[in-house]
Amino acid sequence: MSRRHTNARHTTNLDDTLSLNPVFVRPGESTELPKFTIPDGMSLPETAYQIVHDEAMLDGNARLNLATFVTTWMDDEARRLYAETYDKNMIDKDEYPQTAAIEDRCWRIIADLWHVPDVDNAIGTSTIGSSEAAMLGGLALKRHWQTRRRAEGKPTDRPNLVLSTAVQVCWEKFLNYFEVEPRWVPVTEEHFVFDGHDLESYVDENTIGVVAIMGVTFNGLYEPVKTIAKKLDEIERRTGLDVKIHVDAASGGMIAPFCQPDLEWDFRVPRVVSINTSGHKYGLVYPGLGWIVWGDTDALPDSMVFHCSYLGGDMPTLALNFSRPGAQVLLQYYNFLRLGRAGFRQIQQSSLDVAGYLSSSIARLGPFELVSKGDTIPVFAWRLKPGYTDKWTLYDLSDRLRMKGWLVPAYPMADDLAEMTLQRIVVRAGLSHDLATALLHDIDSEVAFLDALDSPMPREGTGSHFHH
Ligand SMILES: *Cc1c(COP(=O)(O)O)cnc(C)c1O
Repeated sequence: MSRRHTNARHTTNLDDTLSLNPVFVRPGESTELPKFTIPDGMSLPETAYQIVHDEAMLDGNARLNLATFVTTWMDDEARRLYAETYDKNMIDKDEYPQTAAIEDRCWRIIADLWHVPDVDNAIGTSTIGSSEAAMLGGLALKRHWQTRRRAEGKPTDRPNLVLSTAVQVCWEKFLNYFEVEPRWVPVTEEHFVFDGHDLESYVDENTIGVVAIMGVTFNGLYEPVKTIAKKLDEIERRTGLDVKIHVDAASGGMIAPFCQPDLEWDFRVPRVVSINTSGHKYGLVYPGLGWIVWGDTDALPDSMVFHCSYLGGDMPTLALNFSRPGAQVLLQYYNFLRLGRAGFRQIQQSSLDVAGYLSSSIARLGPFELVSKGDTIPVFAWRLKPGYTDKWTLYDLSDRLRMKGWLVPAYPMADDLAEMTLQRIVVRAGLSHDLATALLHDIDSEVAFLDALDSPMPREGTGSHFHH
């Protein structure tokens, strides 16, 4: 595997033509193609292929990308299945009733993993990712609140949602696009995750719901869903306000059922009405797949569901997009059949083991202090010990590692702790113990290099490579 630095090619977009080596084009074929306008004539398929292939090669090496949560490897049978089904459109439920039926099986399997009391009274769907799923979950909460308020003859113009400032950006989009006021709960040194403290000061009659995160993007930690629910129970007892929870389990939704089966965060907690996860994260499917399940059909307002009768029965559809790929849904089903509970547990546990090995080794290096260990989802973050050095920062270390091919982002913690710089590793299947050892070796030698500097690293813009 090449460990060369291949990613800093920001200049490739500056020229506005693509130059082709004349050796590789047919006599008479142009050796230049415009980059930003459509070419006048045709190219041979080999020529066009080679151009796109070579450009895509300049992207970073997926195996060394420890920034992303998204699946970068599937086995040969999965790839064959993908190649056989990339023409399927998920929305064509009449043309592809079997793909639709498999989608149905998948969300039921997921609903069961999340302990819905009665699968036949639950409802779910695939989406493009957790972002679309979050929009749908948020909209359902908003619609519900509006319907109830209207029935009570009360105004519906000031909906708010209670959530941590450490939410993933999709929630900021939801609030912005669907005009819901955020009630941000700040993260602090004492409350490093949202844990329901002071919840009564955020919740009121205009609150459409509370979001709890199973696997905070910044550090991998779980927000304690059950504790938050207890707090809401107390609030209901005191005020009569019945506020529901949506769990954003983009990562944790596919880890906790296999590796922390006794942790109650899902539909075992009655206040949880809906949960999303990313099939393309720890669902182990290539990009383009999310899931959402409502534990009770009543939690999903009928007005959001469009009914199609193509399948003879009643096929409810709800989605922001119309057309989207169906292949990923088939790949999710493939994973469920191929791996079963035992296979998922084994893969996720070995990622957790590698995360534990990496985090404990990084803690022992000296300069670092862990903010999480990677024992929830296999994601952990650390910071420099306060006062350790004024010569370098985690941004410098990130840059040094990038020169060796590793993508290990440094970034500021969420709003209220933005002065705290974190560095994070996302362990995915494919980051083996051996590769982890090689990474530790590189971190160790780059730290030694930075520590040996005579004067501080020059400060420029701290380009963050943070991936949500
Ligand atoms: C990744 C992530 C999202 C967004 O998911 P996509 O599938 O990339 O759209 C939302 N919330 C959390 C907590 C995440 O980690």
